[in-house]
Amino acid sequence: MKTCAIVGIQWGDEGKGRMVDLLTEDYDVVIRYQGGGNAGHTVVNSYGKFALHLLPSGIFRPGVVNVLGNGVALDAENLWKEIGDLRSRGVSVGPENLKISDRASLLLPWHRELDALEEARLADRQYGSTKQGIAPFYSDKYQKKTILAGELLYPEALRQHLEELLEWKNLILTGVYGAKPFSLAELTGWLGEYGERIRPFLCDTGALLRAAAAEGKSLLFEAQLGALRDLDFGIYPYTTSSNAIAAYAPIGSGLPSVRVQEVVGVVKAYSTCVGEGPFVCELFGEEAQRLREAGGEYGAKTGRPRRVGPLDLVATRYGVQIQGATGLALTKLDVLSYLKEIPVCTHYELDGKRTEDFPFPAALASAKPVVSMLEGWNCDISGVRRWEDLPEAARRYVEYVERALGCPIRYVSVGPERDACLVRG
Ligand code: GDP
Repeated sequence: MKTCAIVGIQWGDEGKGRMVDLLTEDYDVVIRYQGGGNAGHTVVNSYGKFALHLLPSGIFRPGVVNVLGNGVALDAENLWKEIGDLRSRGVSVGPENLKISDRASLLLPWHRELDALEEARLADRQYGSTKQGIAPFYSDKYQKKTILAGELLYPEALRQHLEELLEWKNLILTGVYGAKPFSLAELTGWLGEYGERIRPFLCDTGALLRAAAAEGKSLLFEAQLGALRDLDFGIYPYTTSSNAIAAYAPIGSGLPSVRVQEVVGVVKAYSTCVGEGPFVCELFGEEAQRLREAGGEYGAKTGRPRRVGPLDLVATRYGVQIQGATGLALTKLDVLSYLKEIPVCTHYELDGKRTEDFPFPAALASAKPVVSMLEGWNCDISGVRRWEDLPEAARRYVEYVERALGCPIRYVSVGPERDACLVRG
């Protein structure tokens, strides 16, 4: 049995989708183990260009079994839309290639509503939520106040459970936020519509994965977001509400006893960040706009312009460490081709001292970046398909980053297409 996790090392949007799409060729099962519809994994292949929000990126490969594990925020409504979109573009999605854990909790309509209400209450102090209901969902999950997908198979018990939750949730909606309460009919209608549609996909994915493991099948775990957004180890509270790290893959997938042998950390050749929170290396003005345009740095889900900056070696090294990466994929190297000199942040200056260690979240606001300039290659590399054919300066940049991060860079991506990825020996 072969097991591998593909995870983000920075703030997310590193290009995980394209790496999973590439690597699924070698795997039998692809599993999403955390997060929900707030992801936006972009995949470009022979079917076209897709932004996958909930579906595992293995969905395009015939013969690959795709699993939504118990750790995901199961947004049945958006999942159904996503399935419809893929089907309309010729991709086959059915119970034979998509399995949904009966232990995944359901993201309900009030989660999205509460997300928007709380962001509105925070006004100019908001976190920049994607308003997909993720934070209210996970807080309910850990309060044991949401519904497991498998309950759809027990309608009587489900109705009673829903009534109990509704009473409590309406107290919050009306009492705390002065919002409209939900009615039982509204919720049962919603569950009837979307719950029914996902029912055929539900199964005990833990049992399925144990059987796959026993048969020696290879498993690929696909993470959402990046290490710096991890609930426990990221820049709290500017994190997501789930664990985006590889160590959570066994739990969120339904195979808690498995050891993940290989962890491919995806690193973007520069930094981007969506939403609020400290971003030490941030560029502004024209320089930022140039990089944003070159990299097409606008949210896959929201279209929001992303904050951008040079590669932050301090934050990225920390990401490599907490992910336990065994190898790296460096993406979007081609985007830096317009630069004659490439800035990289090598240290932070904190309280008048230089540090290479990533500080505690509350200290980040006063950290200043120390930037060095590296020689650029200043020519188009998007057509290069072999490591040896990269300009020397580009190879030097990759080798420099590899040394600074203390982890081998196995893949170098120079374009969004499936084949625009150089594999290093
Ligand atoms: P993810 O959420 O980590 O999968 O990342 P996103 O999908 O948000 O961002 C990756 C974006 O960059 C997508 O638009 C990809 O098609 C694109 N992309 C991925 N790798 C490369 C690359 O090496 N070069 C260029 N130019 N674009 C890339």
